[in-house]
Amino acid sequence: MPKKVCLVSGCNRNYKAKGYCISHYDRLRKYGDAMPDKPFQRKQGGMCSVAGCSRKHNAKGYCATHYERLQRHGDAMADKPLQMRRAKGAACSVAGCNRKHAAKGYCYIHYRRLKKHGDVMAHKLLWPVRPSHRAMMP
Ligand SMILES: [Zn+2]
Ligand SMILES: [Zn+2]
Ligand SMILES: [Zn+2]
Repeated sequence: MPKKVCLVSGCNRNYKAKGYCISHYDRLRKYGDAMPDKPFQRKQGGMCSVAGCSRKHNAKGYCATHYERLQRHGDAMADKPLQMRRAKGAACSVAGCNRKHAAKGYCYIHYRRLKKHGDVMAHKLLWPVRPSHRAMMP
């Protein structure tokens, strides 16, 4: 029995769906047309094979993140968008505040304000300066 392949002439990728291989089927879904005349562009420099993922290839055709998923879940879950990981040690997004990030882009204090007042009141100082601290001021 002959192996079932993509019906696009010249394409001998494995059959996936609707008569096409995964790559042509992907086009069909994305553009409504498999564009059999248009050659596939080779991804340069080894990229993740997940459509729409432009991360660097790490292992088994996937980027580090998708490969991690594959290992953890047995599936790269290509349809599930990757969540941007917040950089470690990120600070509060209020200008001038360099407290550690706690939630929603804010430090704990600003986040608490946001919940309480619906506004982080960025212009308002966090703590009133107490008289006892005045000695330390220039
Ligand atoms: Zn094909
Ligand atoms: Zn990827
Ligand atoms: Zn803050």
